[in-house]
Amino acid sequence: MKNIFTFTGAKKIVFGSGSMEQLPDYINELRAKRPLFFLDGNLSSEKFRGRISKLCNHNGNRCTIYDKVTGEPELRLADEGATLAREERCDLVIGIGGGSTMDTAKAAAVIAKNGGKAEDYLGLNKVPAPGLPTIMVPTTAGTGSEVTFTAVFVRKELHKKEGINSIYMYPDIALLDPELTLSVPPAVTAATGLDALCHAIESYTSITSSPMSEMVSMGAIRLISENLRTCVSEGENVEARSNMLLGSMYAGLGLANAGVTAVHSLSYPLGGQYGISHGIANTVLLAPTMRFNVSGAVEKFSRIAETMGKTIDGKPPQDAAKMSVDAVEELISDCGIDTGLEKLGIPRKVFRELAKAAMMVARPLENNPRTVTIDDAVAIYEDAY
Ligand code: NAD
Repeated sequence: MKNIFTFTGAKKIVFGSGSMEQLPDYINELRAKRPLFFLDGNLSSEKFRGRISKLCNHNGNRCTIYDKVTGEPELRLADEGATLAREERCDLVIGIGGGSTMDTAKAAAVIAKNGGKAEDYLGLNKVPAPGLPTIMVPTTAGTGSEVTFTAVFVRKELHKKEGINSIYMYPDIALLDPELTLSVPPAVTAATGLDALCHAIESYTSITSSPMSEMVSMGAIRLISENLRTCVSEGENVEARSNMLLGSMYAGLGLANAGVTAVHSLSYPLGGQYGISHGIANTVLLAPTMRFNVSGAVEKFSRIAETMGKTIDGKPPQDAAKMSVDAVEELISDCGIDTGLEKLGIPRKVFRELAKAAMMVARPLENNPRTVTIDDAVAIYEDAY
């Protein structure tokens, strides 16, 4: 039984510079006539809306645009989008944006078809049946949401983040055009790219990884570590942007199949209670959590070190593994992120309370290569201070 594994993702992945122009073909392929576009609010210029309308109307389709998502979404946006889909009798949902927009679009697609509210579907496999077909078009190289079965929401009233996770959330088509990521500003490029690195490292070291998930996770670690610096310093570099988008998609596949680990459990309360962005929250916790985890997966962390450019030949295994933490810290620093929990305004006195909240984010902790106790979690927050 131990060797049985599955591997899932978006049903079809289209990748390449300029592939956005093929959108009409894919709308056709899904036999849709009335697509609802979820468009990132910060990309909603007249010019871009015009481009989308043109692509959509290509086959005489009627296009509706919802552009209210600008940052990490609340559940009500998915409900609002689903209502719009029903009112306009839409037969396809297309998400164009970062993870926030794609997640909202994916959730709206299942609500529009299944009825009820987003809140009803929080958790694992609570969605009873498929939703409207979906095409996801990422404009950040980060979450990999275009290939995952997850949508994450901020619940401000409860001070936490929660997800809808269902096989019916896998997109029908992931359409990745690196040109759409050229406009991402350096700070967002760094935070979203390092989030993808977290997905890659966490899924690679997850105890539920498989040979296939390890292959994509390792591919992601290589692509991200080789290209993120260039994307941050030369945003218009199409080759680096392309490699980063490929890397973040691989990392999404790793995440969807092997899960994430303690970094995500510890970071959720920072997002939910203190509004720290997903990418930054994960980034500040990545190296401290790796330092804690190294002894639980020495061989895997050594391979990460090597893939990220460290010479590990002749080094004792523990030392080689620890070099992965150095490689990650150097990349984070080179991307201009010089922060910790203190600079983010998180006082030490709340660490135990944060650790208790992190323990409730149980699934990632179950995948972690070492057991994490409350005291361990407090120590990791201390290390990230
Ligand atoms: P985001 O979608 O919030 O985007 C970050 C910022 O960049 C926003 O202000 C957005 O408007 C802007 N932006 C997006 N594309 C741009 C472009 N091309 N040019 C200029 N600006 C652009 O950030 P994200 O990191 O992509 O997504 C974060 C969300 O995804 C969080 O809610 C997180 O919890 C969730 N998430 C989801 C999954 C999943 O599998 N579904 C995985 C990890 C994280």
